[in-house]
Amino acid sequence: SKLRVGLLFGGRSGEHEVSIISAKAIANALSSGENSQKYEVTPFYIQKNGVWQAGETAQQVLTSGKPTENDSQTANLWQFPPQAADIDLWFPVLHGPNGEDGTIQGLLTLMQVPFVGSGVLGSAVGMDKIAMKTAFAQAGIPQVKYKAITRDQIWSNPCIFPKLCDEIEASLGYPCFVKPANLGSSVGIAKVRSRQELEAALDNAASYDRRIIVEAGVVAREVECAVLGNDNPKASVIGEITFNSDFYDYETKYTQGKADLFIPASLPKNIVPKIQELAVKAFLAVDGAGLSRVDFFYVEATGEILINEINTFPGFTSTSMYPQLWEKTGISFTELVDQLIQLAIERHSKLE
Ligand code: ADP
Ligand code: MG
Ligand code: MG
Repeated sequence: SKLRVGLLFGGRSGEHEVSIISAKAIANALSSGENSQKYEVTPFYIQKNGVWQAGETAQQVLTSGKPTENDSQTANLWQFPPQAADIDLWFPVLHGPNGEDGTIQGLLTLMQVPFVGSGVLGSAVGMDKIAMKTAFAQAGIPQVKYKAITRDQIWSNPCIFPKLCDEIEASLGYPCFVKPANLGSSVGIAKVRSRQELEAALDNAASYDRRIIVEAGVVAREVECAVLGNDNPKASVIGEITFNSDFYDYETKYTQGKADLFIPASLPKNIVPKIQELAVKAFLAVDGAGLSRVDFFYVEATGEILINEINTFPGFTSTSMYPQLWEKTGISFTELVDQLIQLAIERHSKLE
């Protein structure tokens, strides 16, 4: 009999819409070729207000690729659709907070059913840019200089705020990047060039998260590597993102034609294996499982490779970097989702 796969998408995050498109592509892949003999997909849509929907509503969102116009409030947050009891394996296709950050992974762990991707620890560490960077530093992976701060230092203590800004200016200089620690899609991120911009960006970032990170700005090419596996993960060919804007901000990411992907990236021969090795190291450093996309800055002038971040559930639409990197490495989209499910089963069996 077929494995009943629960496809979880939408979610209480700024990447709700992308998640639906990713899930649609994955649902298609699960019902094509040999996968259609192996898997039976049940869609579960998490509305923007956090309520779970199955059945017709979920199917409709998946088919249309668009969120519901008005979230229904009929169920409370702890009432899961009855179909959830019949699921053999979960495929959480959720980006950002409340999905990519260990919260859903904790729920699925308690359900004692295998699920695709990283567990609680890997997801949580991979989401929090401060925890992530601490893990990378411990693993000896090169990265930009940074300073971790809290909302409290920005808002609740007007006396220490000027001193905090002085310290940032002295240690990181301009331009620097101010980021909420637990978001994605460049939301809340600012590139700042003056004291005035720094103060405004810190205040804004604090409205998104209790934890904030400030990083020294680097002038570099942005290259990405896909990782697939559990204890012995493999790295893909390298891809590059190019754009004309000041940095890879929200608008550049989601406006058609504002950014270009090049796969494989045109890089010196000796650089490629170095990036691949660092990508696997980063995956293991955060306790990743299944999949991750690891993003780097390549400083052409010096040959330096600096890690930027890991994304434990990267964009997964048919045109997204992650599946395209595997496509160019020799694993088709259809094979990729099959392998991810097999990796979930393998990991679950080792946890028991
Ligand atoms: P997100 O998780 O939202 O994608 P990132 O940390 O990847 O956040 O930052 C988004 C973008 O901002 C990067 O792709 C890059 O263009 C720019 N950026 C971030 N940090 C730096 C930095 N330290 N130096 C230069 N550019 C940066
Ligand atoms: Mg990210
Ligand atoms: Mg990023």
